[in-house]
Amino acid sequence: MDLYEYQGKELFKRFGIPVSEGRLASTAEEARAAAEEIGGQVVVKAQVLTGGRGKAGGIKLASSPDEAAQHAQAILGLDINGHVVRRLWIEKASDIAREYYFSVTFDRGEKKALFMLTKEGGIDIEEVAANRPEALARLHVDPLEGFQPYQARRLIYGAGIDDPNEQKQIMSIIQRLYEAFVGADSMLCEINPLIVTPEGEVKALDSKFTVDDNALYKHSDIAEMRDLEAYPPEERAAREKDVTYVKLDGEVGILGNGAGLVMSTLDVIALAGGRPANFCDLGGGGDAQGVTDALEIISADPQVRSILFNIFAGITRCDVVARGILQALDETKIKHQIVVRFDGTNAEEGRQILADAGRDNIHVESTMLDAAKRAVELAA
Ligand code: GDP
Ligand code: MN
Repeated sequence: MDLYEYQGKELFKRFGIPVSEGRLASTAEEARAAAEEIGGQVVVKAQVLTGGRGKAGGIKLASSPDEAAQHAQAILGLDINGHVVRRLWIEKASDIAREYYFSVTFDRGEKKALFMLTKEGGIDIEEVAANRPEALARLHVDPLEGFQPYQARRLIYGAGIDDPNEQKQIMSIIQRLYEAFVGADSMLCEINPLIVTPEGEVKALDSKFTVDDNALYKHSDIAEMRDLEAYPPEERAAREKDVTYVKLDGEVGILGNGAGLVMSTLDVIALAGGRPANFCDLGGGGDAQGVTDALEIISADPQVRSILFNIFAGITRCDVVARGILQALDETKIKHQIVVRFDGTNAEEGRQILADAGRDNIHVESTMLDAAKRAVELAA
């Protein structure tokens, strides 16, 4: 789960990382009031879950509340890389002497947290990594040993930060960002830029904070930060109903049980010459309610022309899924052509139930490949 800049900064503050004072606004009037309360020069910042806001015109300095309201008016509704701005962060403006970059990410290859620090901040870190790799200090933290203060010193010297006053502040920021990273079960904590003011104060001017979805059950306060309106309607419905749903770009909707089976179903659709429109994973479930929820979500996608149900019943039973499909069709207005392939527990009973129901939009196939071919034909 990605957090907005202002949410990431709230976590930074909780872990003792210095940030500027700010207020949230969703209208020009709120932006004006926020600027008045903060006083002096403020920066009006688009809150969207994508980077490069500065370049896209989503970040503007304002010298007065009136100007803040004008910028807010211009930025609200702006489309930044496909994300429409609905929230603004009004922050006390900072004077900037230098812009650094600092992050902790999870390096899956090494199975360790990775620190990256460079004096060349403010720009894309990929650019620095590609063009001036020697300017980027990198260091892994062993999860069993945990963070050690010598690692912060090594990182600071590696990045060539030689001012003792900056070193001292950055030492503590490194330690605290690592605490935030571990404490919030984060996958990425990035500060770009980490600024030095003309007075020599170091602080986080931006925040990119990603929390591991699988750990959200431990952090109800962070889970509540999710902005459901930022997701397309089907994804929102899927989240509310606790169904795993992924939107893709083709025309066959896919419903399976278990991630492995769903992944191979995507491959078989491709083999049959089609393209998946989306997929839902029923997991170990398959009761009538689960099937209804999943079918509703899949069929709400206007790109879906046919639906492939691929079930390998181990924990669940095919006869239960078959009844679930019939019940879902009775309770909803779904008229799509549905191809069903059952295997495993009570597969024969399941097929019989569907055959007996005699629905003309249900097609039963006995192998995955035949089912995929049929679904692709029906989507054509
Ligand atoms: P991003 O473009 O989405 O990464 O947004 P950032 O929050 O990193 O801001 C982009 C740039 O705007 C920064 O690198 C700064 O140069 C500038 N900026 C942001 N806040 C301030 C501020 O308070 N004062 C000044 N002078 N510039 C700022
Ligand atoms: Mn930034």
